Amino acid sequence: MILILDPAITPEQKALLRSALFSQGCIVREFAEQGQSMLGAIGGHGRDDAFFKSLPGVVKTIPISTAFKLVSRQLHPDNSVVAVGTVTIGAEQAMAVAGPCAIESREQALTIARRVKQYGASLFRGGAFKPRTSPYSFQGLGEEGLKILAEVRETVGLPVVTEMTSTIQADMMMKYVDAVQIGARNMQNFELLKCVGRMGKPVVLKRGLSSTIEEWLMSAEYILSEGNNNVILCERGIRTFEPYTRNTLDLSAIPVLKKLTHLPVLVDPSHATGIRAKVSPMARAAIAAGADGVMVEVHHQPEKALSDGAQSLYPKQFGQLMRDLYVIAPVVDKQIAFCSSPLRGDKHVTVSPDRNADDAQRVAFAGGVGAFSHKACLQYFGAAIQPLSLPSYRRVFEAVRQKEAAFGIVPLENSLTGSIHENYDLLIEDGVHIVGELTLRIMYHLVCRPDTSAGDLKRVLAPPRTLRQCRVFLEANPHLVKMPVNDTVEAVDRVSRGVEPGEAAIANKAAAAQFGLKIVEEGVETNPRNFTRYVVVGRAPIPDGPRRKSSLTFATGNRPGALLDVLRVLADSQVNMVKLESRPILGKPWEYMFYVDLEADVQRPSFKKIMRQLRDKTEQLKVLGVY
Ligand code: PEP
Ligand code: MN
Repeated sequence: MILILDPAITPEQKALLRSALFSQGCIVREFAEQGQSMLGAIGGHGRDDAFFKSLPGVVKTIPISTAFKLVSRQLHPDNSVVAVGTVTIGAEQAMAVAGPCAIESREQALTIARRVKQYGASLFRGGAFKPRTSPYSFQGLGEEGLKILAEVRETVGLPVVTEMTSTIQADMMMKYVDAVQIGARNMQNFELLKCVGRMGKPVVLKRGLSSTIEEWLMSAEYILSEGNNNVILCERGIRTFEPYTRNTLDLSAIPVLKKLTHLPVLVDPSHATGIRAKVSPMARAAIAAGADGVMVEVHHQPEKALSDGAQSLYPKQFGQLMRDLYVIAPVVDKQIAFCSSPLRGDKHVTVSPDRNADDAQRVAFAGGVGAFSHKACLQYFGAAIQPLSLPSYRRVFEAVRQKEAAFGIVPLENSLTGSIHENYDLLIEDGVHIVGELTLRIMYHLVCRPDTSAGDLKRVLAPPRTLRQCRVFLEANPHLVKMPVNDTVEAVDRVSRGVEPGEAAIANKAAAAQFGLKIVEEGVETNPRNFTRYVVVGRAPIPDGPRRKSSLTFATGNRPGALLDVLRVLADSQVNMVKLESRPILGKPWEYMFYVDLEADVQRPSFKKIMRQLRDKTEQLKVLGVY
């Protein structure tokens, strides 16, 4: 039963209410939706609606309409984010779990772990207790395998997950691994589910070979009802009449689960298909369909693997898959979380886990919570950081310089409307370095109060740059009078308060949800290929690591061919320039600074000569960052 609470309820009254529910044998969960405080009460056999309604502080009751309660979105409207070691699953980032089917030896595990980490996997997988169809097949190394997994975590630095097949392994699992997996064959082993529920460690719960989505969610309910909310569901294919692939991957389970439950969803295309060549296409489809991540089997010598070699990717294939997912994820409003990757130097851009350090957990951005910059922050750094909302871009740079935040994140350019010049100018000032970048797809929706009907809309509020990005929609709807405001949050805030009737805002989904607004028209940006590129700034350049891009500024003398001379150095050295922008120099009318992005690490030793040549041909050459 969901109990809607009196808005005036005091903490003492709430505590009394909770203990009344406990004494009836209820499991109690507290949550809020659109500012309304609620309690979910599960259990309390024999107690009817009238009983719950009669409790002091309860104004209304709503029965939970599904058989599963704790896992239901009804009881927990926001997505759950599950932390496994330093990795979070279920928020704005999609991630990859990778590793062999089984741990075969120390060398095998370490070799594969290093390779999958290099390509960006966030978690390492590997079975030590293998539930094999035949008793004569390799059964896994047992505790020895768990010890190897613990060594992988220590030496390679990836959290590890492995399958638990019996309750007697509980102590060992607590000791050696970061998350346990319940395999498809054990999805309805209720004693095992209760046991992992009591262990409290994150659980990857695979879908049973022939289980319905409802049965699967009921199994998750077992784990949550023991007090462990850290459950991640993993679709791994189901039995159908089709024998071509090992199983049939039920991709439709992803949106179905996303509607029914708040739990994160992974997809395992390896066991779903059983065929190496089919793994990457299905992994790409899974991310496109909204999965929070993929679990992929990878082996450096699959032909020699002791289990599931035929479905294991070679490390390089996994690397290519990660590159594809990196491109696909922003289209569906996510970012691939890399542990370390040639695509991004994130290994070095991690926020310190030391929560007591002054600025260590904070990342500054301009605008309010729900703005695109806020989203960029969460997508780049994951859910574990504290976003610091500031009123201007200049303040973001100041916050980084003055150690109020470890990093800042600012937009540099939009694919429809061009550069955000202010940030180019701020980057040239001293004390900050670019340490990373990300691309965010910008989708805009027309949103208004739930009690306003689309036909009554008269005015639309948004910042000027947003109005420009929605030009075609606004021209087609001339009855909507444009009202420019400073930022998106100001627009949604005003619309939600109903200051004037008939007002709508143009905003992203998160901002609309946060202010309880409904979407009247989806995707009103002129071109769906609307992307904004953000850069991450920090106080120090990132140390050695995979870096593929450099940003530089310089001025040239005021003489014919001065810029051409600089460009010739780059062209002769085969350096690819991916951006060139000019900015007026402050206080020197008609003189310009140039800003360039190069596809190169200008700090590598072999670049020294090119840098010398550039220095000769330029003035005030400055490296803004290598990332
Ligand atoms: C596994 O992931 O190693 C495994 C055995 O998977 P499943 O339980 O999905 O068959
Ligand atoms: Mn396997």
